[in-house]
Amino acid sequence: MADPRGFLKVRERELPPNRPVEVRLRDWKDVHANLVAGQPFLKEQAGRCMDCGIPFCHNGCPLGNLIPEWNDLVWRGQWADAIDRLHATNNFPEFTGRICPAPCESSCVLGINQPPVTIKNVEVSIIDEAFARGLVTPQVPQRLTGHTVAVVGSGPAGLAAAQQLTRAGHTVAVYERDDEIGGLLRYGVPDFKLEKVHIDRRLEQMRAEGTRFRAGVEVGKDVTWAQLQARYDAIVVATGATVPRQPSVQGLDLDGVHVAMDYLHQANAVVAGKDVPGQITAEGKHVVIIGGGDTGSDCLGTALRQGAASVTTLAIGKRPPQERPAHQPWPTDPVVFEVSSSHEEGGEREYLASTVAFVGDESGRVQRLRLATTEYLPDGRRVPQPGTERDIPADLVLIAMGFTGPETEGIADQLGVALTDRGLVARSDDFATDVPGVFVAGDAGRGQSLVVWAIAEGRAAAAAVDAYLSGTSELPVPVTASTVALRP
Ligand SMILES: Cc1cc2nc3c(=O)[nH]c(=O)nc-3n(C[C@H](O)[C@H](O)[C@H](O)COP(=O)(O)OP(=O)(O)OC[C@H]3O[C@@H](n4cnc5c(N)ncnc54)[C@H](O)[C@@H]3O)c2cc1C
Ligand code: SF4
Repeated sequence: MADPRGFLKVRERELPPNRPVEVRLRDWKDVHANLVAGQPFLKEQAGRCMDCGIPFCHNGCPLGNLIPEWNDLVWRGQWADAIDRLHATNNFPEFTGRICPAPCESSCVLGINQPPVTIKNVEVSIIDEAFARGLVTPQVPQRLTGHTVAVVGSGPAGLAAAQQLTRAGHTVAVYERDDEIGGLLRYGVPDFKLEKVHIDRRLEQMRAEGTRFRAGVEVGKDVTWAQLQARYDAIVVATGATVPRQPSVQGLDLDGVHVAMDYLHQANAVVAGKDVPGQITAEGKHVVIIGGGDTGSDCLGTALRQGAASVTTLAIGKRPPQERPAHQPWPTDPVVFEVSSSHEEGGEREYLASTVAFVGDESGRVQRLRLATTEYLPDGRRVPQPGTERDIPADLVLIAMGFTGPETEGIADQLGVALTDRGLVARSDDFATDVPGVFVAGDAGRGQSLVVWAIAEGRAAAAAVDAYLSGTSELPVPVTASTVALRP
């Protein structure tokens, strides 16, 4: 512990300010100012860490990040050691340090009676500083095992599995049906939360280490799962949970009603300089977003930058409390009212808002959204309360109600992989499916989740694949499927 009195001397959190709203709404760049070398307060913030005997933050972080160790190293200015300790548990801190919801901070012991340590900001500062100082270099394996692995899906789960397996000496190819590698980090999360330079920089390292990338190849169509099984010694299924949840209401087929990912994918492609004929755009429109989570918030920030006339986000449930409620005590990660960077930028939020129908004009274009106040029934179901219906203008409706699970037709028909009753790819404790040599990691097996969990599962699945191929593995196992099942 660097500064035994740090948390007594500095009692408040300090974070780098976001760029002013009126400036950042004019571009697609990161809402944060450049984080490298501009944080005189970083040392004293890292020094607030108490190096607790039992660091609950280790458990709060799905990756088991060694938070007190790197807080101490940042306090001492030992950047090379700090990135070493951070990379020991996390392949991609540049992603989590930017877009993780930081459950670690909810379990920080200091958080019992003071604001918690700014763990996430220390994390992103370490990796940005490490790139700036040339400390992130390829780790080429010293020998090749001769085994081959296909990783299908290039989101954080697939990339983490691929990097671990390549470093263990296996020959790894990552298949991705999109034209670019990165999964939801590339075409889901907008640049104002995660600029794509961060993905490209990491891919450069992975290529130099020997991982091969096959973008624009859909497994199950362009190449069958069975062909992949015949060609590789093992397969990691990391195809994500891409099937959108949709409301069963009238008017779903009207022009101007879209699932959020269709909209975000196109917007991100345009920001990347691609040509998207007939792009769905919010420009000049009254936009209604159904769903108040990360996806909805990303639609909001995107619509505001495209010049929407108005943006309303509807959430079916109650507004969460401002403070941690008594039934979600420390060190749990509570559900509280959140203000994302997009919420700071504009738009209205309505709670207890149940969508009843989409109403169109004669040409079949959506014009209005009919909603009603949500009523909670004694059995917990949420229904529209009769007599409370009202219409709001809606020229563009974006459905951001989450995802029901992975697309499984190909993998179930062609490989015979078993599914769970929720339609997820079924897996054993060590992320193996019931087909020998086929493993699963990330949202495809877990259901819609978070980047930090995808990386943790990708690392754990890689250890299991390595043991399957080599008989034993020295790769770390941050989580097992049963510990994962116990945590949100
Ligand atoms: C809009 C949005 C915003 C989000 N924001 C956050 C956030 O701020 N913080 C956070 O922690 N989490 C966020 N999430 C969740 C997070 O992105 C996911 O949990 C995470 O990306 C899952 O990683 P994955 O590797 O399992 O799958 P994905 O990232 O979904 O990657 C799966 C990839 O597999 C590819 N694929 C699928 N089938 C095939 C096939 N047959 N052949 C070849 N390729 C295939 C897909 O094209 C996709 O690229 C967000 C999700 C969305 C949709
Ligand atoms: S990955 Fe997320 S939970 Fe883990 S230390 Fe970083 S911000 Fe915290």
